Amino acid sequence: MQETLLEVKNLVTEFRTADGTVQAVRDVSFSVKKGEMLCIVGESGCGKSITSLSVMGLLPNNGRIANGEIRLEDTPIHELNYEQMRKLRGMKMSMIFQEPMTALNPVLTVGFQLREPLMLHLKLSKSEATKKGIELLKKVGIPYPEKRINQYPHELSGGMRQRVMIAIALACNPGLLIADEPTTALDVTIQAQILDLIKDLKDNLNMGVVFITHDMGVVAEIADKVMVMYAGKKVEEGPVQDIFDNPKHPYTIGLLNSVPNVDDPNFVLEPIQGSLPSLTETIHGCRFHERCAWATEKCKQTVPPETEVSKGHMVSCWLVEEEVENGEYAG
Ligand code: SF4
Repeated sequence: MQETLLEVKNLVTEFRTADGTVQAVRDVSFSVKKGEMLCIVGESGCGKSITSLSVMGLLPNNGRIANGEIRLEDTPIHELNYEQMRKLRGMKMSMIFQEPMTALNPVLTVGFQLREPLMLHLKLSKSEATKKGIELLKKVGIPYPEKRINQYPHELSGGMRQRVMIAIALACNPGLLIADEPTTALDVTIQAQILDLIKDLKDNLNMGVVFITHDMGVVAEIADKVMVMYAGKKVEEGPVQDIFDNPKHPYTIGLLNSVPNVDDPNFVLEPIQGSLPSLTETIHGCRFHERCAWATEKCKQTVPPETEVSKGHMVSCWLVEEEVENGEYAG
């Protein structure tokens, strides 16, 4: 049995804004095992990036973890201070972002940025760190690494910059990698290469990966487990096969129906009507009820509980809860 690497329990993340305090993540729990890829999916603004920034301790100044626990192996990282978190980042957990140009420093060479974590965390000398940096560039498939290590980010293509980001993230062999939409800014061919690379690294290094995306096609390619978020809440979670073969939450079903199917000439795209509510809006009951075709009075008044419909497949929806409760659930 795989060991649990990351455990998040009842996470609540809030922000101070001019309109008062808003909750961007509401009572979210999940776990990731070593060698497992969890994909967090949902529309922009659903709380998936804030969840990952909460884990990394990288919330902006007006944000804070208001409740819950985050454990990395046995360490309660929600209790660590800035300095303790800084030591952990890069060493035990790393993050790659959507746009490498904003994450890489444009005035420093690739080599400088690769050497930094190696010299800081592993205490390597400059020449040892350069040697290791070249190995890392090779590992992520960068040709002529001896030449590339002396170049600046603007001298590399978008795909190569993303590979450099991955090399930096992997420098100290972290157990956990968080990837926040790392392929969104790349063209389709490069996207496929980067997805394959992350998948291979996860398998070969037994890393736990949290992969954030809004693209269900990407999820189908790489996920072991999927967590669907809507307006700051987890609405469904389960093994990837269950989520695609037997989605239960109306929002998950809507997300899957809005993925274009180029192989089926009769396929009709069915976008989810309406838009995500604002974080400042007070919503009673199920947070999806304004967009849900099956919403009842109960949905508008009471938050649905989380129901386990099969092993590890959890859904927060009154329809599903009532089917299970009444013994009508067909699986
Ligand atoms: Fe729709 Fe009600 Fe289920 Fe929410 S609880 S998703 S409103 S049926």
